[in-house]
Amino acid sequence: MDDRDSRVGDDVDKGGDDGDRFETRAVTYGEAGARTGAARDVVTPIHLTTTYEVPGLDPDADLETLDPDAGEFLYSRLSNQTRNALEHRLAALEGGEHAFAFASGTAAITTAVTAVVHPGDHVVAFEDLYGGTRSLLTRLFRDRFAVDVTFVDARDPEAVAEAARPDTTLFWMETPTNPLLRLCDIEAIAEVADDCGAVLGVDNTFLGPMFQHPLDLGADLVVHSTTKYLNGHSDSLGGALVTDDADLADEVAFLQRVGMGNVMASFDAYMVLRGTKTLPLRMRAHEANATAVAEFFEGHDGVRAVHYPGLETHPQHDLATRQMDGFGGVVSVELDADLAGVERFLGALEHFPLAVSLGGVESLVEHPATMTHSPLSQAERDDLGITDGLLRFSVGVEHREDLIADLKRGFAALDGVEVVVSDDD
Ligand SMILES: *Cc1c(COP(=O)(O)O)cnc(C)c1O
Repeated sequence: MDDRDSRVGDDVDKGGDDGDRFETRAVTYGEAGARTGAARDVVTPIHLTTTYEVPGLDPDADLETLDPDAGEFLYSRLSNQTRNALEHRLAALEGGEHAFAFASGTAAITTAVTAVVHPGDHVVAFEDLYGGTRSLLTRLFRDRFAVDVTFVDARDPEAVAEAARPDTTLFWMETPTNPLLRLCDIEAIAEVADDCGAVLGVDNTFLGPMFQHPLDLGADLVVHSTTKYLNGHSDSLGGALVTDDADLADEVAFLQRVGMGNVMASFDAYMVLRGTKTLPLRMRAHEANATAVAEFFEGHDGVRAVHYPGLETHPQHDLATRQMDGFGGVVSVELDADLAGVERFLGALEHFPLAVSLGGVESLVEHPATMTHSPLSQAERDDLGITDGLLRFSVGVEHREDLIADLKRGFAALDGVEVVVSDDD
């Protein structure tokens, strides 16, 4: 075990039942609720019922605060056993008091922003954000609900402080960002947010709850697209929000269950419960393979730049080492090629299907300029540094030698060299 592994393992007091370590929480926490039925299931079943028989009339019942832990079930949008089990698991993994599972990561983000901002408020956000988040902040909150938004290069905490105004109520950050793997200093930005009496929300999707703990660094709320690493198998859409703030949690509970009805379906809750059990195993494998892929690219002269926070050449490698417990599974690379060259490279790959999304056990590659970041204008892409040569790899858990052999095939095709792929390749 290297230092980083043991730091994860020593992380004993974060929401775990009796101070259990991350790997233990990932397998068991939340699941105990399954053992209340007559058969004492070891694994939480998928509870599909939409409604529950109640014991009798209760004039004092409060629909918004039904407590599933106290056996309060009425209607599945309000509380559901499978979703409840997952919410306990998510709280334990992220080290927070209150967790909520949503129909998508986007639903978690929309709910988080709605829970904090009012018309006339101001939001400061990292300019290099997930495209959907950028769109919802501008097209929904700014254009419809009169919430002003300023995008800043949050690599510099001073720039974040300078963008703050008396009416700023929310700071919204991602780190590392997509696709350029830029970082922001969560602790420094949490101080800025504190000084403004504002909320800091962090989208922790890219690293997941094992490799980064924003709540410990001062964030007020954390969101995830569980679609990515938490579920980990590219077969379930979902989102999560975790916070220690009881008032914020009440508002989120209202929005999730009543105001928006943005709940995760019990089938998906089951899938994510299952996926999280192997999260620690998968994250270590993703990271080891991503490191090998990043090092391979770094040594190749067909590459203009490699973006991976684990490389010593990453401009924020020190911050990465300080703030993160692992460097994750996403590597971006700028090939020394035009669009036609990139197409030749991609066409030769067998182990990296061209597809958006990330965080599954299978490797994927995507081309930001024409896929995830195509809604941006050419000028916006140029400003951010998203060139035609840029590719983002979500490195899976396959054997790393197979992945690297595949990338060699890509470079051979890029250079116009005929490659013969043998059966045992
Ligand atoms: C995928 C993703 C989202 C959106 O999540 P969905 O589950 O697709 O709605 C938000 N943030 C980041 C960083 C993502 O990668």
